[in-house]
Amino acid sequence: MAIFERIENGGERRHYQVKSPVTLEPIGSFDAGTAADVRGAVERARKAQASWAGLGFEQRAEYLWRIVDVIVERQDELVDCVIAETGKPRNEAVSMEVMAPCMQISYYAKRASKFLKTIKRRPTGMMRFSKKIELHFQPLGVVGLITPWNGPIALAANPLAQALMAGNAVVHKPSEVTPLSAVLFEELTKAAGLPEHLYQVVQGDGETGAALIDAGVDKVSFTGSVATGRKVGEACGRNLIPVTLELGGKDAMIVCEDADLDRAADGAVRGSCFNTGHYCCGTERIYVPESVYDPFVDKVVALTKELKQDPDGDSDVGAVFWDQQMDIIESHMSDATERGARVLVGGRRNPDLKGYFYEPTVIVDVNHDMDIMKDETFGPIVAIQKVKDEAEAMALANDSKLGLSGNVWTQDLEKGAELGTQMQTGSVSVNDIAVTYGVAEAPFGGVKASGVGQVNGELGIRGYCHIHPVIVDTSSSSKGMGGYPYTIEAAKGMQGFVKRIFGNRFLRKLLV
Ligand code: NAD
Repeated sequence: MAIFERIENGGERRHYQVKSPVTLEPIGSFDAGTAADVRGAVERARKAQASWAGLGFEQRAEYLWRIVDVIVERQDELVDCVIAETGKPRNEAVSMEVMAPCMQISYYAKRASKFLKTIKRRPTGMMRFSKKIELHFQPLGVVGLITPWNGPIALAANPLAQALMAGNAVVHKPSEVTPLSAVLFEELTKAAGLPEHLYQVVQGDGETGAALIDAGVDKVSFTGSVATGRKVGEACGRNLIPVTLELGGKDAMIVCEDADLDRAADGAVRGSCFNTGHYCCGTERIYVPESVYDPFVDKVVALTKELKQDPDGDSDVGAVFWDQQMDIIESHMSDATERGARVLVGGRRNPDLKGYFYEPTVIVDVNHDMDIMKDETFGPIVAIQKVKDEAEAMALANDSKLGLSGNVWTQDLEKGAELGTQMQTGSVSVNDIAVTYGVAEAPFGGVKASGVGQVNGELGIRGYCHIHPVIVDTSSSSKGMGGYPYTIEAAKGMQGFVKRIFGNRFLRKLLV
């Protein structure tokens, strides 16, 4: 049974019904926005942006503080909506979809004025005597925001806060799997008094997303799968607009021989099962040297057996959010077991629950011939491969077409940091599950096929701006500045200058 399903209703727009993955009962429906709908939204956004850009940072921030107030006041509504739509445990719905957005919005409301303050400086070299530079952080205009289903509020609120504080308007195309929470979030921003049309949600499917890229936006912020990311990158290239692509991962965990095994086992289970494994930086592959393999696996098995699954939200591990993801999980699991992997815990849909619940699973004897160690599984699966030593673990961790994040577990923190630098990923955590997206100061983004560009913090918010240099000549006259008429003597004079200054290492360093 499909979680969202196109229904013919005789209307002009593609109409979808949405069901809960927990009860499998309908919980809402929506019309997919057409190309005309998104164009209209972008035009309205452009008008709203013109006056928004004229506000100072403090005024913009005041609106964002009010959004946080409303999220706090109406958090139960938001949590209930997310749970109905995704089947997340209440705990994760609160931490990921309420607490994280409050932190993200507050962070940029407080700091945008510092990150985007006009920079004034003198250039280096000879020009320092005659020119000054101002770098102005100008908004781009209208940002097209396209988001996935695994963090419906968190993955929208974070780029939204940055785009708005930088002076842009946003048109948001949320995932068709989670269209209801996005509309509720938009409603909360309206209740907070955000100027009309500055943030608009256009519900829809892939076609609506593609139309948004072609609708005249000035930048696209995309989070989603590698396959869609390629199409989005191509479309942005065709439109000559900047884009950030935050794509899938296949994060490796390396357990060193000197790791605190209790801590590492807890990290393995949390990293693999958090958000039902639907976490771009979820732990998807674990490499453990043979010297510590048995005790580590015993601990992981014991912890996983304790995890509870419950349809009322009082779970440790919630539902798989939709049917197609369940298909991927089941296909990876059967490929692995057919090739000789052994299931120690779980390994099946929960037979006691009606909805899309996959039991928290521990699988061992896996290897790189199996889909489960190569492609993103995105399920509550702890997949453990025994290796000879840490060097083999690192070689296997880097044997991936994806490179989003990863984690290393050791009691020697210096060694952990050093091993971290050897991982071919966008970021690494030591003795923790992947936390980079939640640490705003750390630029976040994947290498290899996991993405293009980095987001968050000072660097991320500046990505929502055109950095506009204004170079002012401060000299009293333009005489002697190499202008017309050219003379052979002047050219020879320049050559002499090059020889005197750049022919001398000391003067060269002094000048630049
Ligand atoms: P998806 O690529 O299927 O869809 C993402 C969004 O793109 C949806 O809104 C969808 O409607 C839209 N879309 C589909 N086709 C489009 C097109 N041709 N043009 C424009 N938009 C289009 O991804 P998903 O299944 O919703 O999300 C899961 C994926 O997202 C996983 O791979 C996960 O790892 C990744 N993800 C990455 C990050 C990160 O920050 N790197 C964070 C969360 C999720």
